[in-house]
Amino acid sequence: MKKIIAAALILGLVLFLIPMGFRQERAQEETENSAVLPDSGKAITILVDGELQEMDLNEYLWGVVAAEMPASFELEALKAQAVAARTYSLNKAGQAANHPEADLCTDHTCCQAWISQADAQANWGDSAQTYTNKITQAVAETNNEVALYEGALITAVFHSSSADTTQDAVAVWGGNVPYLRSVPSPEGEEVPNYHSQVTYTAQECKDRILQAKPEAVLEGQPANWFSNTVYSDGGSVMTLDLGGVSVTGHQARTIFSLRSASFTVECAPDAVTFQVTGYGHGVGMSQYGANAMAAEGKTYQEILQHYYTGVTVESYT
Ligand SMILES: [Zn+2]
Repeated sequence: MKKIIAAALILGLVLFLIPMGFRQERAQEETENSAVLPDSGKAITILVDGELQEMDLNEYLWGVVAAEMPASFELEALKAQAVAARTYSLNKAGQAANHPEADLCTDHTCCQAWISQADAQANWGDSAQTYTNKITQAVAETNNEVALYEGALITAVFHSSSADTTQDAVAVWGGNVPYLRSVPSPEGEEVPNYHSQVTYTAQECKDRILQAKPEAVLEGQPANWFSNTVYSDGGSVMTLDLGGVSVTGHQARTIFSLRSASFTVECAPDAVTFQVTGYGHGVGMSQYGANAMAAEGKTYQEILQHYYTGVTVESYT
C-alpha cells in the first residue's frame, strides 16, 4: 500500500513538473524573442502628418519597414528591407526640396511610407507581439548597416513585385545608374494581384492619350493607335508609339494608370484592355522577390547584392 501511495505521489509530482518545465521554457523563449531596438546614435527630423517629430533613426526605420513590407514576410527579407530603408534614408536625409525643415517625410511618393508602432500594432491584431518583435529584430540585427557602391551610399529604391526581371533604371527614369540593373526576380503567382486587368472605352483611352500627348494622331479604331511596342527580355514595355508619338513603358504606365510597365494591349473596335503583371516601377529590390529569395534560404546580404548590382553591405559610420 505504501508503495502504491509513493508511486502515486511520484506520478503526481512528475505530471505537475512537466507542464511547469514547458511553461518555463516557453517563458524563456518569449524573453529571447523580445528584441530590443538599439539606439542608432543619429537623431532625425520627420514630417509626420504636417508636424515635425524628432526620433532616433532606428525608431524611424522600424516604422518604415512596418509600413513598406508585410510583417508576415521572412526575417531575411525584412532585414534586407531595413538595410535598404536605412541606406535610402541616410542618402536622402535633408535633401528633399519640398520639406527643407525635415530630413524625411512619411509620404511614400516623396520619401518612404512610415507608420507609428501603435498604429501598426492596432492593424496587426493578434499577431502584434510577434510582428513587433520580428521588425525590431530586422532593424536591430542590421544596426548601422547600409548598401554601398564604390564606398558611397546608394539610392536604394525598391518596389513591390516584378514580372520575371527587374528594370534597368535607365529604361524607367532615363539616367544610367550602375547598381540599378535589370536582374532576374523569382516571385510569381504567390503575389496578390500579380496579374491585373484594366479596360477603357475607346473614348476614355483617346482622352488619356491626348491629355498626355496632344500631338498624337488617333484615327479609326484603337488598333491603329498602338504601334512599335518594344519589350525588354523580361516582358516589360520599353517603348511604344501612341498615335505616332513615342513614349516609354513607364510613361504609358502613368498615362493608363497601370500597376506596372509589364503589360500587353488588346484592342477591340470600341475598347482597349491592358493585361498587367507585377506592381511598381520595377527598379531596385523587389519586395516579393526578396521574400521568395529568403524562403529559398538566401541571407539579407545576398538579397541586397542580387538586386543592387556590385554593392557591398557594410557598417556605416
Ligand atoms: Zn519627403
